[in-house]
Amino acid sequence: LIQLYQPLNFMGMVYREIKQAVIDIEALFDILDRSPEIADRPGAKPLAVPSGDLRFEDVHFAYVPERPILRGVTFEVPSGKTVAIVGPSGAGKSTLSRLLFRFYEPQSGRITIDGQDIADVTQKSLRAAIGMVPQDTVLFNDTIGYNVRYGRWEASEEEVHKAAALAQIDVFIKSLPEGYETSVGERGLKLSGGEKQRVAIARTILKGPPILVLDEATSALDSFTEKDIQDALERISRGRTTLVIAHRLSTVINADEIIVLDKGVIAERGPHAELLARDGLYAALWNRQREADEAREKLERTRAEE
Ligand code: ADP
Ligand code: MG
Repeated sequence: LIQLYQPLNFMGMVYREIKQAVIDIEALFDILDRSPEIADRPGAKPLAVPSGDLRFEDVHFAYVPERPILRGVTFEVPSGKTVAIVGPSGAGKSTLSRLLFRFYEPQSGRITIDGQDIADVTQKSLRAAIGMVPQDTVLFNDTIGYNVRYGRWEASEEEVHKAAALAQIDVFIKSLPEGYETSVGERGLKLSGGEKQRVAIARTILKGPPILVLDEATSALDSFTEKDIQDALERISRGRTTLVIAHRLSTVINADEIIVLDKGVIAERGPHAELLARDGLYAALWNRQREADEAREKLERTRAEE
């Protein structure tokens, strides 16, 4: 039991507010990756985010010493821009977002936001500045309204509804027997992957952070849901510094820069057309993705005709 509580302590201030809530411990472990607790440095100051310029500077990281995961990663997401991270599974993409949230610390190099090393600021202020739409969203065993409001507790009813509308989940919520008061999670209504992701998007809209981290789902949602989610994500990322771990061609095509991560190093970088023309790892990844998409669409069409 002690062990189960550790991640709760680790999330510190966030979970203190909701410690009454029953949490889906297993899914929580998944997000936190059972990370050790990282404490604020003595005299840590709150992060100031006047513009939202994000930099990874020669970041080296290993979960266990004998197995380096990131081996000197340097890139910038200029204020308001979108950078897409792509690469094979296990390349270290999600690790970048865990480091940005300071669930772990780099062994060397640093991550800065508007020039401040994130290791020197309070975690509370760091996490307040970043909105995360994860691959798999954890819902609390509470009402769907609570799950949206989690983005900003003091939000008004109207703001909650507006965020849900922007995330294109409001119609769905209103169709539920008890609307926003409907219980969800393990002991309530089970939502689909796409619905859960839209709840996460609504939460993030409500939070309105200057920096966004999106981890797109690898598994295929149906094309209709996918387009809806894509539109909602695009809307919230507009004008915000956005780091997106991208699995969809549409996302990377629109990114200001694409970083191709392979075995912990940046193998290629640049805009879509340039990378395709290079005919390297990026071109190989996306040709494979396109074939998979086409096969799926064909399957969906066949099913629809039946
Ligand atoms: P991806 O590019 O698929 O998102 P990740 O960043 O999740 O890759 O993981 C990179 C590598 O680090 C993988 O080989 C993964 O097995 C390993 N890894 C991830 N989390 C941990 C952990 N908590 N402890 C040890 N190894 C880990
Ligand atoms: Mg990942």
